[in-house]
Amino acid sequence: MNPESSIVILGSGLAGYTLARELRKLDKLVPVTVISADHGGFYSKPMLSNGFASGRTPESLVTSTAETMASQLGITVLAHTRVVSIDPTAHELHTDQGAIPFGRLVLALGADPIRLSIDGDAADQILSVNDWEDYLRFRARVANADRVMVLGAGLIGCEFANDLCLGGKQVAVVDLAERPLGRLLPDQAAAVVQQALQAAGVRWHLGTSITRVDHAEGHLSVALADGTRWATDLVLSAIGLRPRTQLAAEAGFVTGRGIQVDRFLRTNQPDVYALGDCAEVCGLVLPYVMPIMQAAKALAKTLIGEPTELSYPAMPVTVKTPAAPTVVAPPMDVRPGRWEETVDERGVVARFLGDDNQLLGFALVGPATADRMAMTKLLPAWL
Ligand SMILES: Cc1cc2nc3c(=O)[nH]c(=O)nc-3n(C[C@H](O)[C@H](O)[C@H](O)COP(=O)(O)OP(=O)(O)OC[C@H]3O[C@@H](n4cnc5c(N)ncnc54)[C@H](O)[C@@H]3O)c2cc1C
Repeated sequence: MNPESSIVILGSGLAGYTLARELRKLDKLVPVTVISADHGGFYSKPMLSNGFASGRTPESLVTSTAETMASQLGITVLAHTRVVSIDPTAHELHTDQGAIPFGRLVLALGADPIRLSIDGDAADQILSVNDWEDYLRFRARVANADRVMVLGAGLIGCEFANDLCLGGKQVAVVDLAERPLGRLLPDQAAAVVQQALQAAGVRWHLGTSITRVDHAEGHLSVALADGTRWATDLVLSAIGLRPRTQLAAEAGFVTGRGIQVDRFLRTNQPDVYALGDCAEVCGLVLPYVMPIMQAAKALAKTLIGEPTELSYPAMPVTVKTPAAPTVVAPPMDVRPGRWEETVDERGVVARFLGDDNQLLGFALVGPATADRMAMTKLLPAWL
């Protein structure tokens, strides 16, 4: 490998491998190395939150092993290799397997689940599912659980809750907010999702949080801040993700909510870029599939010598709750505005309108999700 021209991608998630694919479409020869702390296989992360009811085993989610990815793309994949520090000046990574030089480096490090500090002798039993290894643990534990308590009624918490109900579990969801999906949906849309998930079997504990989890005879005992105590077999935490910035911050990169990059996905250090869940692109942290695809396409061009600015069209997100199909394009604009909601037999159509009545965001629940394409066309670009 010629270190000067080599492109080293740190992370084998959707961001890392999509970039490697895009690079190979444009340049068959440039040396590309993907380094990953995990097994380096390619799997569909979105299926982690709705694979249980349909019986998707952890093994079946891995569609290509690290070896297959390496031979299909003509790249080097260094799996089970953890980077412990970055030396941007020397263009070198320090890993638990030794030093690795780079010509250009792309940080595609992903994000860590946020953990609440919870008391109790079983607090360490709380699971979160953010990667394939987590899913492996979750599937082993859920097999012996009749009751599951989900902490967090955001997108991922609601998806797990719906899927676990479909899979025959008794599901309770706890959240400090008064409504599920409270950060994404206006009130009536959130209320419709809440009712639909309740009808599917979810028991809600809203406006409260978990304070402690203890072992009890043959089960877990969960104490809530509202003073109640509940028996469950498994506690799943889904209260959000925090971009992995520590490695970059320690190496002198500018970080905020994520590793900060410009529209060319350049960090503040020469020859080092970032994309995916770890990156904050011009102030935006968008931990979803579509923004990653856009970023990988633009960055691949930049890396082969055609500097290309990233643009984000409006990219609505689907909430995978079959009990209440939901699509949301949150307003990204800093302009002030208001939600207007219509609820009828088609479900909910919620429009976020600016002061000049321009559509800046929307949320659709139920059959109204069919309006997704038409409404997306009316939205301003996100970047
Ligand atoms: C349960 C769940 C469901 C989701 N559903 C949807 C959905 O329906 N639609 C949607 O748009 N988005 C969804 N998302 C979000 C989407 O899956 C993510 O935005 C995307 O997969 C993130 O990819 P990434 O490559 O940035 O990060 P990751 O997939 O987390 O990859 C990070 C990589 O970095 C490696 N790494 C980290 N630190 C080191 C280190 N020090 N040394 C070496 N390697 C390291 C890891 O091993 C890993 O390979 C979901 C996310 C979750 C968790």
